[in-house]
Amino acid sequence: MDKPVIVSTLHAEETDRLSAVPPDARATQRIADKYQAILKELGENPAREGLLKTPERVAKAMQFLTHGYALDPAAILRSAMFKEDYRQMVIVKDIEIYSLCEHHLLPFFGKAHVAYIPDGRIVGLSKIPRVVDAFARRLQVQERLTVEIRNCIQDTLQPLGVAVVVEAQHLCMVMRGIQKQHSIATTSAFTGEFEHEKTRAEFIRLISKSGD
Ligand SMILES: [Zn+2]
Repeated sequence: MDKPVIVSTLHAEETDRLSAVPPDARATQRIADKYQAILKELGENPAREGLLKTPERVAKAMQFLTHGYALDPAAILRSAMFKEDYRQMVIVKDIEIYSLCEHHLLPFFGKAHVAYIPDGRIVGLSKIPRVVDAFARRLQVQERLTVEIRNCIQDTLQPLGVAVVVEAQHLCMVMRGIQKQHSIATTSAFTGEFEHEKTRAEFIRLISKSGD
């Protein structure tokens, strides 16, 4: 019997290419103007040297951190789907995620683990981290992020099952003292074969193994 394919991807080099999405100059200016007003409201002096370029930097950073809106995750998958008879679990684990909580606009970050069981079609392995990134680089809640990744892979690739686990730390909790430091929220979403206890347990076991 074939062994499951497991790819560990702490450094998602492929996704780095997405950082090349150029910021829109006019939007940058409009956003920067508003951040200048916010700095004033917070009691700062936006004219002091250290803050002179801050509104523009924040505007560009926020555009980068939300560039997932400009991406079509289903199209990313469709760009690299291949017919293949492989029917074992394919796992891409330790995908770095950086997202922004939509309630506080503060980061949450951690790892995503994604698996699917092909049904006649596979997808290029590097596309899975890109799909994760396309959804993470938006204003999110961890629960919806998890389900969106699952649904996109299920609907586009139509495999026998999809499993997604996201483990993340939320700075809106940590920094505001609501959550103990280092505590991690875990969310999961499954379809098809992964609804079965045995398959799901196998997936959990494989993503829990450190290294390989
Ligand atoms: Zn929050």
